[in-house]
Amino acid sequence: ADAAMYLAKERGNNTYQFFNGTLHEKIERKILLENGLRNAIQNQELHVVYHPKVILATREIFGMEALLRWKHPVLGYISPAEFIPIAEETGQIIPIGEWMLRKACEQAKQWEDSGFPPLYVAVNVSVRQFQQKDFVEKVTNIIHETGMNPNYLELEITESIIQDIDESINVLKGLQELGISPSIDDFGTGYSSLYILKELPIDIIKIDKSFIDYITEKKDKQMVKTIIELGLSLDLRVVAEGIETEEQLAKLIEYDCKFGQGYLFAKPLDAVQFEQLLLSKINDNI
Ligand code: C2E
Ligand code: MG
Ligand code: MG
Ligand code: MG
Repeated sequence: ADAAMYLAKERGNNTYQFFNGTLHEKIERKILLENGLRNAIQNQELHVVYHPKVILATREIFGMEALLRWKHPVLGYISPAEFIPIAEETGQIIPIGEWMLRKACEQAKQWEDSGFPPLYVAVNVSVRQFQQKDFVEKVTNIIHETGMNPNYLELEITESIIQDIDESINVLKGLQELGISPSIDDFGTGYSSLYILKELPIDIIKIDKSFIDYITEKKDKQMVKTIIELGLSLDLRVVAEGIETEEQLAKLIEYDCKFGQGYLFAKPLDAVQFEQLLLSKINDNI
């Protein structure tokens, strides 16, 4: 796709005739998205949804993962799986990621102020954000500005983040010193999962959905069991991601996994819906 983009730019618009319709459409769409992302914050097209995280044994909500949503004025909702990589390429992920972190912290603080029990908030951090020289400083500022309690903040990074291991260790330590819990997202899908566990100061691993999907099959069952044991033996919090069935839940509980999230419990919710869910749970217990 990059080569095609290059060619299209190099030869001018009339070269589009060389591409089949699908490729042409793909390129046009990408350009639309690239341009759209530049104004997305300003045009108030971005919002945050919250995916509940639960204690598996009791299904009690103890926190949530903040997830970005973008409604393009012409194309409608675009999946983060499509627009996050584009935002990474163009660098727009830097302002967007900061906006996202600030929003999530503001919301957490607001819920705390209105008397809800403290909730753990997880925010995804992209490679490009993480590699900024002043990343820890930026996070520090957002915490101070919003008043969010950093002990309840989790930052999710993926294994692909690790380009410079020493630098990564420093950044993660810096976050931990602030009270923040670094978390490895999509754990097990990278090439260096064990190396990462060995080298990096982290507090949480999130077992990727692809393992949970097949947890009832022999090989995946053993993998999940082993990941949980390994995580627990290293004093990490182990979170299972993408739980969709009672059967998957039962297996995870059997293997001593304490935490999870997935459509079995709830879909990502906007702030109002999330608050209603919390209130309904509290009322159930009265
Ligand atoms: P992720 O961080 O691994 O987030 C989990 C994704 O799995 C979310 O999709 C969530 O809605 C989905 N999910 C959770 N449980 C289930 C389930 O039981 N079934 C199914 N089918 N899906 C489930 P979403 O919101 O589409 O996000 C996709 C990815 O986009 C995220 O994966 C993350 O890598 C990225 N992303 C989303 N928001 C942000 C953000 O603010 N910043 C960055 N850098 N990346 C983000
Ligand atoms: Mg995540
Ligand atoms: Mg994940
Ligand atoms: Mg994922």
